[in-house]
Formats: sequence, structure tokens, C-alpha cells
Amino acid sequence: MAGIYIHIPFCKQKCSYCDFHFSTSLKHKDDLIQALIKEIEQKKELISEPISTIYFGGGTPSLMTNDDFLLINETLLKNYNIIEKPEFTVECNPDDLDKQKLIDLKNSGVNRLSIGTQSFFDDDLQFFNRAHNSKQAKESILLAQDIGFENITIDLIYGTPTLDMKKWEENLNQIEKLKIPHLSAYTLTVEPKTTLHHMVKTNQTQLPTDEETIEQFKTLMNRTKEIGLTQYEVSNFGKEGFYSQHNSNYWKGINYLGFGPSAHSFIENKRFWNVSNNIKYIEAISKNLNYFEKELIDEKTAYNEYILTRLRTIWGVNLSFLKTTFNQKIVEHFQKEIHPYLNSSYLQTENESITLTKEGIFIADKISSDLFYV
Ligand code: SF4
Repeated sequence: MAGIYIHIPFCKQKCSYCDFHFSTSLKHKDDLIQALIKEIEQKKELISEPISTIYFGGGTPSLMTNDDFLLINETLLKNYNIIEKPEFTVECNPDDLDKQKLIDLKNSGVNRLSIGTQSFFDDDLQFFNRAHNSKQAKESILLAQDIGFENITIDLIYGTPTLDMKKWEENLNQIEKLKIPHLSAYTLTVEPKTTLHHMVKTNQTQLPTDEETIEQFKTLMNRTKEIGLTQYEVSNFGKEGFYSQHNSNYWKGINYLGFGPSAHSFIENKRFWNVSNNIKYIEAISKNLNYFEKELIDEKTAYNEYILTRLRTIWGVNLSFLKTTFNQKIVEHFQKEIHPYLNSSYLQTENESITLTKEGIFIADKISSDLFYV
């Protein structure tokens, strides 16, 4: 089984913290969709396995018209071996979701919505420069459920200047009130060249302390557990049967193809990434020029990536997999570096799998970096 990711690089406006690739001008949308269609057709030889997950991300895929969407879907179906009911996710922003849009998405086979909520408070949303308000956030979730979408995930951000503990608890309460089965929750990070970066640099805003952010993370872990959501990855929480199959496959090292500007693909031990520029992408595809770079993943990199991604999940690092996949030197390095942690309260071992304990989650990055083979 493999996955497909489609990057739709358009947004209504620029969120203050965002460093993803997108454009706020829709001027070249039609040309870009045509280029996307061509790329989907061109890459069909790269993968022969059945496709079990399709994920439209961005940018803002919900900005596409139904015709754009149908055209891309048709091209995927024509060129790839897609299983009967794949997990089919579309990222949507609350302000785009009216009744007709939701019906169209449902009719085209979409069975999972990722609604970019970020917060249920207007002052947070204004600080993030989001295009929606808190009323639209709640209404879009209720409307999607009304139309028949059960599998809904939302994103929330914590560790932000406008979010105190009371508001954070209320945001988490909404997961229960609105019966949302999956949550991705991220701490605010200040990426270079973003509006947020400028605001922090010029003292227009002040970030919370690390201790305050850690307190919110602890509340996140406790509250999601009470609600019945499992923390199956450090930042991802889901009810049984609602874990993201697409993202879980990334963490399990399963092949995927990415289409669109800035999209990444991973096939066996090769990674490809497309140019992060809409015009360059459109021109290169129309003139049959190269639009992606390629990297061969060596054994050391593969091991480091395995440690980094798997340690963050409930599946953990599997000892038999390590021994059968990597050379003796790497395995010996792992055994030496993991040893002190095995007798600590940070890791636990069960059936050949080493996973983080609740305490270990707070130092996941440090443990990974100690285990890296450099
Ligand atoms: S909608 Fe998403 S991709 Fe677009 S600017 Fe905001 S965070 Fe970035």
C-alpha cells in the first residue's frame, strides 16, 4: 500500500506564523491545476502498489472549485491503482465550508476532513491573521457532521501570546462538546521570515515562557486522555479507528507520491521534492523541464529518520526491525546509546518495541538526538 499527497498552493491570506508554500493570488490557479494533472500522469510509472490514502493539503485545498477537484480525482483514478475506499482527506478552512461545498466533497469520495481551526477564540484567530472567526469554526464542524462526515480532525495551536490556561482548557473542552474524534495540536513556533518573527523581533508581542507552554502541553495530554483520545504521536490524538492512516504511513516509512509545488515524495530509498514556486513549477512542467530535486537516502540517514519519527509514536522503535534493516555498526551504536535510557523512567519496552513513557515525551528530541548515528 502507498499514499498520495496533493499540494494546493493557494490561500486567502497569510497567517502570521505560516512558512508553508502558497500564494494569495489565484491568478495562475487554472494553469497550476493543468500542470498538476500533467505531473500526476507523468509519475504513474513510479508506483505500482495500491493506493490506500489520498491527502489534499496546502495551502488551502478548500479554495478549489468542485470542477478542479473532480478533474484531479478523475486523473488519479485513471492513472493509479486506488483501493475501493481509501482514506481520503481534504484540508479545509472553516470559512470555505458551506453546505454545497461539503456535499460536493462527500459526493467525490472524501471521507475525512481536516478543518484548520487553530482556536475557538476570536482574539487568538485575529493574532494568527486567520480568515475565519470562532463562530465559523464551530459552525463548519457542526455542518460537516450534519452532512455525514464522521471522521473529522482539527488543528489547535498552544504556547501562543494570546492564549492563557483558561482559554486553552476551553479549546480542549470543545473537542468533547463537538464530538471531534481526532486532534492535531502544535506549539507555536516562530519561523524565519514570517509576520510572527517580525513581531517577536520588534517586541510587538511576547511569547509565553517554556514553563507555561509545557504546562499547556501537560493539560493537553491529560484532557485528551479524559476525553478518550489516544496520543498515538506526540502531537496527534485520536479515538480508536480515527488515527490518521496517511500520516501514520509517513511515520511507518511507507511509500508516497507528492504532487504540486513543494510536494515531497518518498519511494524506497529515494526522496524527491518539487520546486517551491508556482510559476517555476507551471513553466517547467509545460516545457518538459526538470522541476524536482532528488536525494538517495543512505543507511545512516534512513536510521536517523526512523529513530526521529518512530520514537514519537506509540509504535516506537522496533528492535527486530533495526537488527534486520541496518548494519551491525549502526545496531551496536543504538544498543550502546539506548542503554542508559532503558533503566530510566523515560522509556519502556514491550514485545521488542521501545516507546516513550509519559515522562519521556517531554525529552523526545533529546533522546532521539542521543541515538542519532553521526
Ligand atoms: S491557511 Fe494554512 S497554509 Fe495558508 S497561510 Fe494559513 S496556515 Fe499557512
